[in-house]
Amino acid sequence: MNFPIYRTKMGDDKKFNLADPKEREEYFKLKCGPEIEKLREYLKENTFIAYLLGKKNSGKGTYSKMLSEVLGADKIEHLSVGDMVRAIDSEVQDEAKKKDLIEFLEKNYRGFYPLEDLVASLLSRDTKKLLPDELILALVKREISKRKGKVILLDGFPRNMDQVSTSLFFRDLVDYREDPDIFIMIDVPMNIINERIKWRRICPKCNASRSLKLLPTSKIGYDEATKEFYLICDEAGCDGGKMVMKEGDEKGIEPIRERLVMDEEILKKADTLYGIPKIKLRNAIPADVARDYVDEYEMTPGYSFVQENGEIKTIEEPWIVADDEGVQCVSLQAAPVVVALIKQLVEALKI
Ligand SMILES: [Zn+2]
Repeated sequence: MNFPIYRTKMGDDKKFNLADPKEREEYFKLKCGPEIEKLREYLKENTFIAYLLGKKNSGKGTYSKMLSEVLGADKIEHLSVGDMVRAIDSEVQDEAKKKDLIEFLEKNYRGFYPLEDLVASLLSRDTKKLLPDELILALVKREISKRKGKVILLDGFPRNMDQVSTSLFFRDLVDYREDPDIFIMIDVPMNIINERIKWRRICPKCNASRSLKLLPTSKIGYDEATKEFYLICDEAGCDGGKMVMKEGDEKGIEPIRERLVMDEEILKKADTLYGIPKIKLRNAIPADVARDYVDEYEMTPGYSFVQENGEIKTIEEPWIVADDEGVQCVSLQAAPVVVALIKQLVEALKI
């Protein structure tokens, strides 16, 4: 994918700590205040439905959360199809809920498999292989109808290539008022996802998750035997416990590579569709031009450690990663990506 680079650089001396909610609010006001006002005004009377398209772990949930922080959690809701399917799994174990579900499906399901067979497979928890598109559509419709008056950011649909074209007719199928629908497309290099997984560290006691490269704890340890630095859990109850790599994380993206390639194909397919506005977000920009487009503090910092006189020193500098074409890139923090999202939303909605 080759998405345009969005300029969020202001070229002044203002600096923000984007991890701090208060400073983040100021940041958004400075970078896209007028656009936020336009969207807030629009959302008083209108909504839209957006399909979040991008690889697994590309930050869809994070960007959604930040957008709802800016525009109001009562206005914006992230709807994960994966979570929805898992919730159905437990719903069918409850007699009253199961009855409601079946009643809803009797009215709304249109598909080629008999409803009785689908309900039977839901009941036997054999849901993974036997949930046809038509059933997913009916279930999403049900979730959307529970959220009247809200913007829905739909995550995890379409799940495959066929559904990309299906999704264009989705609004009609769900009869979701007269609101526009939009593709929000997110491009993240494989390598960034790979590195995020490989640097992930977990506390075996409290399950807290941090990153040795991207989100270290306040205390760092050094293992003389392996000559490696490690994170020490910040939780008081964990007594300075060593955080460790989760089993399988050393493989990085390998176990999910097929899925990521499919997600990428969906993104490419979606890009060729006419008739739906597309918002294009990129997480990484070439390092040699990065400073022309973004302010230094908008780049994701990477951390490394050195030992000096028996003390461990933390070094912070922009994190540089090769993208899928081998170009050295910086990775953006979530906030500048959300600025690009907000500005493009105003264009897509023509407000
Ligand atoms: Zn812990």
